[in-house]
Amino acid sequence: MFVDSHCHLDRLDLSARNNELTSVIDAAASRDVSRMLCVAIDMEQLPYMLQTVKRFDNVYASVGVHPLHVADGIPERAFLLEYAADPKVVALGETGLDYFYSQDTVELQKESFIRHLQASADTRLPVIVHTRDAREDTISILRQHADPEVGGVLHCFTENWEMARQAMDLNYMISFSGIITFRNAEALREVVRQVPIESILIETDAPYLTPVPFRGKPNEPQYVVEVAQCVADIKGLRIEEVAEITTNNFDRLFNKAAAK
Ligand SMILES: [Zn+2]
Ligand SMILES: [Zn+2]
Repeated sequence: MFVDSHCHLDRLDLSARNNELTSVIDAAASRDVSRMLCVAIDMEQLPYMLQTVKRFDNVYASVGVHPLHVADGIPERAFLLEYAADPKVVALGETGLDYFYSQDTVELQKESFIRHLQASADTRLPVIVHTRDAREDTISILRQHADPEVGGVLHCFTENWEMARQAMDLNYMISFSGIITFRNAEALREVVRQVPIESILIETDAPYLTPVPFRGKPNEPQYVVEVAQCVADIKGLRIEEVAEITTNNFDRLFNKAAAK
C-alpha cells in the first residue's frame, strides 16, 4: 500500500475525468495508492477543500498558508487552532520560505512560518514545510521555533544533503516528489541515496510535477508509484519494501491519520 503524502486534490484538472474526483481516487486505488494527504495552500479555498476531502475516508487534510500566498494575508493563531481541531486535519502547512519566486514577501513569509510552528507546538500536529532557495533561514527558524517532539517534513525536497541532515536532526522527514525521476536530477538522486529510508516520505504534489514517464499529463496521486519505484531503484530495495516503510513513516509522523 502506498500513501501520497502531499497532493492538492482541490486543484486537479479533472477535464479528462468527467469532472469526477472519485475517478482519480479510484485510479489511485487500482494501483494500491490507498491513502493521501491533501495539503492546504490558502485560507480562502480551505472550506471548499475540506468539503471536498470529507467525501473520502482515506483522504486527510492540512491547514496552512503557502509562502507564495502570504500577500493575501497570514493566518491568525486562532484560525489555525480552530481548523486543526477538525478530525480531518492531521497537519499544519504547507508553510515555509520560498525566495526563488518571491523576495519581496520575505518578512511576511517568516512571520507566517513561525505562526504555523507555534500552532504545531500547541496542537501537537506536525508541520509540512515548503522551502526553496532559503536553506539558511528555513533551518534557523526551525531551530528556534520547531518542536522536535512533534516534527514535520520538508516536502518536495530539492535541496542538498547538508540541509536534509540538519532537518533530520530536528526530527523532520524528507519527502521526495516526481522531480527525482527527471533526467537532470542526478544530484538530487544522490541525496535520496544518502537519506535513510526511515526518514523518507513520497509524494506527487499533484497537479504539479508529473513524474517520468508521464511528463505532459496532469499529475495524480496514482503516480506516487513512479516516485516509489525511483526510490527503490536508487536504494536497491524492492518497491514493496519502499511502500511499506514509507507508509509506516507517514503514520509515525502524521499520527492523527494513523489513529483513524
Ligand atoms: Zn510546496
Ligand atoms: Zn504542495
